[in-house]
Amino acid sequence: MDERATTHCRCLLAETNQTELAATITDYVNNIPPEIKTPPAEYLHRLQICKECPHLRDGMCVLCGCYVEARAAKRNQKCVEDASRWNDHALCYNLYISQYEEEVP
Ligand code: SF4
Repeated sequence: MDERATTHCRCLLAETNQTELAATITDYVNNIPPEIKTPPAEYLHRLQICKECPHLRDGMCVLCGCYVEARAAKRNQKCVEDASRWNDHALCYNLYISQYEEEVP
């Protein structure tokens, strides 16, 4: 088996063991001026969609090379593959509900 294939995860940077880089990205996000920063609920919504996307690898969108936790943090940014995807709140709601249902015994 190709070892590289097992070392990548469809996860956010904060969920990897790249703690130093994750801290740098968090610091970047925390210092975005409020007038251009994505509101918290919208930010989590965007990240939830990225987490379900096959283009996410170790926190990075392989289509644009951005760390999604940074890209999603500016309100004028869009999903690189589909500019309307992050606006699909029904999709995020369905993902949230399916996650919740998995946790309920
Ligand atoms: S920005 Fe779009 S294409 Fe890239 S990982 Fe997120 S949802 Fe997928």
